[in-house]
Amino acid sequence: MSKSNDIENIRESINKVDSDILKLLSERRKLSENVINTKVESDQPIRDEQRETELLSRVISDGKKYGLDSHYVSKVFYDIIDDSVRLQQHHFQSSLFNNESSVIRIAIQGIEGSYSSMAAQKFFAHFNKEIIFISKDRFDEVAEEVEAGRADFAMLPIENTTSGGINEVYDLLLHTTLSIVGEEKFKVKHCLVGSENSTIGKLEVIFAHYQAAAQCNKFLSTIPDANIQYFADTALSVKKIKQEGKAEYGAIASEEAAKLYNLKILQKEIANQPDNFTRFLICSRKSHEIDTRIPAKTSLVMATAHIAGSLLNALTVFSKYEVNMEKLESRPIVGNPWEEMFYLDFEGNTKDEKIQMLLDDLGIHTRFLKVLGCYPAKDIDKAKLDFINRTESSGTDEIEITEALVDEKPSKPKKHKSYKLASRGYKAEDTIIKVNDVSIGGNNFIVMGGPCSVESHNQIFECARHAKESGTQILRGGCFKPRTSPYSFQGLGFDGLNELKSAGKKYELPIITEVLAPEQVADVALESDILQIGARNMQNFSLLKEVGRTHRPVMLKRGMMSSIDELLNAAEYILAHGNRQVILCERGIRTFETATRNTLDLGVIPFLKEMTHLPIIVDPSHAIGVRDKIAPLAKAAKVVGAHGVMVEFHPDPPSALSDADQALTFEQYSEMMKDLYELT
Ligand code: PEP
Ligand code: MN
Repeated sequence: MSKSNDIENIRESINKVDSDILKLLSERRKLSENVINTKVESDQPIRDEQRETELLSRVISDGKKYGLDSHYVSKVFYDIIDDSVRLQQHHFQSSLFNNESSVIRIAIQGIEGSYSSMAAQKFFAHFNKEIIFISKDRFDEVAEEVEAGRADFAMLPIENTTSGGINEVYDLLLHTTLSIVGEEKFKVKHCLVGSENSTIGKLEVIFAHYQAAAQCNKFLSTIPDANIQYFADTALSVKKIKQEGKAEYGAIASEEAAKLYNLKILQKEIANQPDNFTRFLICSRKSHEIDTRIPAKTSLVMATAHIAGSLLNALTVFSKYEVNMEKLESRPIVGNPWEEMFYLDFEGNTKDEKIQMLLDDLGIHTRFLKVLGCYPAKDIDKAKLDFINRTESSGTDEIEITEALVDEKPSKPKKHKSYKLASRGYKAEDTIIKVNDVSIGGNNFIVMGGPCSVESHNQIFECARHAKESGTQILRGGCFKPRTSPYSFQGLGFDGLNELKSAGKKYELPIITEVLAPEQVADVALESDILQIGARNMQNFSLLKEVGRTHRPVMLKRGMMSSIDELLNAAEYILAHGNRQVILCERGIRTFETATRNTLDLGVIPFLKEMTHLPIIVDPSHAIGVRDKIAPLAKAAKVVGAHGVMVEFHPDPPSALSDADQALTFEQYSEMMKDLYELT
């Protein structure tokens, strides 16, 4: 037989072995699927790491008998175990799709062929559904598609191992109502792509996404004659050169995008770093509970309290609960110079009691805390092999260590009421809210003063000057007025807010103003240091949720027909949506008494102080409704333990456009301020 015939025969045998290997792998997969079904029924843990370790050591020692080295065998079997663990995880993730639809609509930034679309294809590959991509130019538009229900998922790149975090996406996560339900890591392999008649030497213009260009800048510097033109995404650059068909045009894109548009790859692997990964977040409208048997990750965003050491205290919580933190990224808070939001990823499932306790504990050190989502971790821990190198006694050591740690575990929290986060049981120490140099809460007593409504430039500037001169800490002024009659003055709106802001700036007074509607919140929060929720809106839950998403402190006024239990539950809405800076305000309730506008319920102050850690302000103006009875009530509020008062005054009370009867004159206000300072 000839030599070539020999090789043919050997190759045929190899092909047969390969085909057998594939058949066996498929058979093994089917067996794994059977294991899954049994585990689902019996509620058994998904991974049995002891069994995996035993399996690996057994195949390694069997392998030796066949002359296979342990490194080779363990490498192959790691992949096999990894596949079956992923298979099991996918099974538990099928709850992501509780609808019967056979298609998944995925919003992406860019077009098909972009890295986002490929990462999405990878993530959703096991779900056997048809994918429809919805292309958008910007990340916020991608999120909006899902928020509006036009897409099921948003695919958002969050970080790249070469160029770092994607700031626009971090900032978007803070404001979106979407939840993270998954993550995908995608290997980015940039190529230089051109049209059929193109060569590197001919290129005059290279179209590229700015991140992609940054990741390939070393290679690009070797073609100095080509100009870089930035494009919104990699696939669009490819589309552009396809349309133009010029030999002088090139683009940086993936191999897949080049194939999709039938273009020539001029050079492969042009990135500075060959190992270049982008991590994507998969976001949906609803959060999904993750089976506690799957390794999960949780992402959150927080701002720590304005107290020395609070970042350190917050981070210490993770070591207290022995939870592994994977990522800490900071971003500036728009509107608050030199302040930052921290984005954290850690190992753990929010369904797990330990993680719930950790989040509760963490919340105490924050002024904003929002869980962005809990999702299955992409990286699967490798089955451990160190067992082989250990002696029998190492097993008992491990038990001892575990027991020692059990003693240090934090104790279970007490059962909370419906307003857990607002309660003293949750947080024993007073919450102190810092607004510029003013501290609200604790042992401080502050005064918020100003007109009921901002009426004109001169009016608010005169009031601001008088507020400053009389020792006021915070300037108030209504711009959006909740009036009983639709014919009454409704406020100057954003024009008024601009005046209030300028007046506050001139006299260095933080400002507070009321927000009436959810859609106003973000814009008012940009300008006002504190947001006020009026008595009429205390149970406007969509408004409460919206102010809960901002980073501005919120003063919540008690509704005129509301119990303190309802007040605390309303505060809870704000706290639970992330914003931990809530101030309560007692402003009088409606009783059978008609001699006063409302009845100031000073009796609740000592109760509230016992029930909650939040600061409490008293508003005697709206309670009593007549100017000459306000000062004594303000003093009484201080005596009874309030953390401050809010009082209305006006340069010319009879001409006030709202609440004229209760506006103090400048003299009355100065007098009251003097009396308040003298009171100890
Ligand atoms: C106000 O403070 O301007 C106001 C309208 O108060 P309340 O919501 O308490 O009536
Ligand atoms: Mn008023």
